[in-house]
Amino acid sequence: DYDLTKPVDVDISKASGSGIASAGSTDAGGGWIAPSIKDEIKDLRELKEFCVSMMAQSRTRAAQIYMELEDEFVRRGVDKTLAQKILMDAFKSIPREKTMDSGYLKVYMRNKMLEKIDVTDPLSRNRIVAFIGPPGVGKTTTIAKLAAIYSLKKKKSIALLTMDTYRIAAAEQIRVYGKIIGVPVEVARNAVELSSFIALHRDKDLILIDTAGRTRKNGSHIRELSEMARICPDIRFNLVLSSQARDRWLYETVKGFSVVPVDSLTFTKLDEADVYGPILNTMMLSRKPLAYLTTGQRVPEDIELATKERLLHFCMPN
Ligand code: GDP
Repeated sequence: DYDLTKPVDVDISKASGSGIASAGSTDAGGGWIAPSIKDEIKDLRELKEFCVSMMAQSRTRAAQIYMELEDEFVRRGVDKTLAQKILMDAFKSIPREKTMDSGYLKVYMRNKMLEKIDVTDPLSRNRIVAFIGPPGVGKTTTIAKLAAIYSLKKKKSIALLTMDTYRIAAAEQIRVYGKIIGVPVEVARNAVELSSFIALHRDKDLILIDTAGRTRKNGSHIRELSEMARICPDIRFNLVLSSQARDRWLYETVKGFSVVPVDSLTFTKLDEADVYGPILNTMMLSRKPLAYLTTGQRVPEDIELATKERLLHFCMPN
């Protein structure tokens, strides 16, 4: 597994299968050796030096390819440790003569990553989905996009609920969207009220829940969300993150929201991000599948369901 939390031992000599460099210390024990055996050891030493120099020549090319690919991953924002894990796995797993064939390596890595990348479609699998995450990442806009698509295009009956009672403007924002799309909007002040609205809308195909835009450091907000999960166990939680954010911020946000049973991730603002590697990094670290990617402010156009191929395109060296 590509485990981001463990340091990686990057040693090209191991990657290209070289064990010869350490395999000749026959006299390491310091015992008595007969003169005839000494000659044989001399021959063996010469043979070893020859093999090592042969290995060095082939290793140079494999090492160069390794470095180039690592650079390409890192340039795309893929965490360096993760890039090294992916590469080490490839170098160790493919036939040795293929380690100098970057095309072969890429095909291997692509297939391996297709196995590892996890995507999901929360609204086709669940009836009640809450969108949580830091303020300003685009939760309300994402909900409006999904509500419009599912209501207007897919002809599903929908209710929008909001727990965002901290900012009056926020509840107003979702009311406006509800009115335009033609779906009911309810504002709940706490988890108990929320559960009664969920009961009220039991006839709906889908219930989408907006939550207060508070940071992970806000203890009362996090408590409120875990209360929500406790009182309404049917809710599935989608954590919304901005793709403009740096790895450290993303990891800490995932950690901060981990008291809530997060089922999937959404990444917003891909149109404003320089690199997309952090999406892969966060998915791997959190072990949560990716759900939606949003690519602009337009409602409902700028949203797509995440696919493995799209993520590969973002992160894999060409
Ligand atoms: P919330 O506080 O998480 O609910 O965030 P909002 O939905 O209110 O969005 C905050 C701002 O981000 C608004 O100006 C949105 O138009 C903008 N926004 C949301 N999604 C995207 C996106 O995919 N791309 C861009 N460029 N802006 C977005």
